[in-house]
Amino acid sequence: MSNILEIKNLKKYFPLKSGFFQKVTAHVKAVDDVSMEIEKGEILGLVGESGCGKTTLVNTVLNLIEPTAGEVVFDGKSMYKLSKNELRDMRKYIQIVFQDPFWSLNPRMLVKDIIGEPLNVQAGMNSVDMLPKVEELLEMVGLPKEGAFKYPHEFSGGQRQRIAIARALALMPKLIVLDEPTSSIDVVSQAQILDLLNNLKEKFDLTYIVISHDLSVVNYMADKIAVMYLGKLVEYGDSRTIFKNPRHPYTKALFDAIPDVYTENIEDIATLEGNVPSAINPPKGCRFHTRCPKSMDICKTHEPELIKQGDDVKVACHLVNDIRGIKEEEARNKH
Ligand code: SF4
Repeated sequence: MSNILEIKNLKKYFPLKSGFFQKVTAHVKAVDDVSMEIEKGEILGLVGESGCGKTTLVNTVLNLIEPTAGEVVFDGKSMYKLSKNELRDMRKYIQIVFQDPFWSLNPRMLVKDIIGEPLNVQAGMNSVDMLPKVEELLEMVGLPKEGAFKYPHEFSGGQRQRIAIARALALMPKLIVLDEPTSSIDVVSQAQILDLLNNLKEKFDLTYIVISHDLSVVNYMADKIAVMYLGKLVEYGDSRTIFKNPRHPYTKALFDAIPDVYTENIEDIATLEGNVPSAINPPKGCRFHTRCPKSMDICKTHEPELIKQGDDVKVACHLVNDIRGIKEEEARNKH
């Protein structure tokens, strides 16, 4: 299968300015040298605590912010080498469904105008031509076509999320970012929305990036997962392998809340304490060392590389990786 999305050595540093001349005094390293690929038809789960860089990464992929360095290749084309027109065309193929349909749907607009907006703005369709398409989209997400003439508040939370999905589907995208797709709806609707998303993916050969704090959602949906900590990718690869045997202490700690369901080595599971440190001056060496229960001296001085472990997983941790080379180098430097 070919890649729909390739993220290559992506960095996004936000400058911090201070003083009368607004001099740049520091940078927030929100995303720091992240690379990953998503194949067509795949579901990537993006996990990590708030402040780990997930949103900045996705906003860069959505082309809402420019990266400091690196490249994003979508469907074979480098996004930062496109002309304005080409970029506008490409935006049709990447859509987002936001976390909270209460806020993402304009309460003053009829559903037909909410779903029809991208058809009008990006495909130039008039309101007469738009209506049959809007009705078709409503039925596609399991809502009656009569809903087109109602307002968002006339629907339940789950139904509103269906409207948001219908809007994202309007331009027949190739990639949809699902930002906490079920966090603001009831449990029964959550299961129905996940089923709907899976069915739509199969029917329209879609690719998803799922951002979720709910690891059961990621476990249910994702083929591959990317675990981020303080702007870095710390574990990345096949979802089943990682859920069965998380190797990075941060991934293990994230899974701690659900150890008996998803992991084999329960006794090896760590509890995550404290908060994510500031991304302005991230800790030297391994960025997780200030919270890691397995931290060693080497972790405070040497940043672990993301290295392949087996066929389908990469991990950035000195516990897992072969650190003989670093130790030999340290011994040489001492003499
Ligand atoms: Fe913990 Fe060291 Fe691995 Fe970082 S490199 S996760 S501090 S053991």
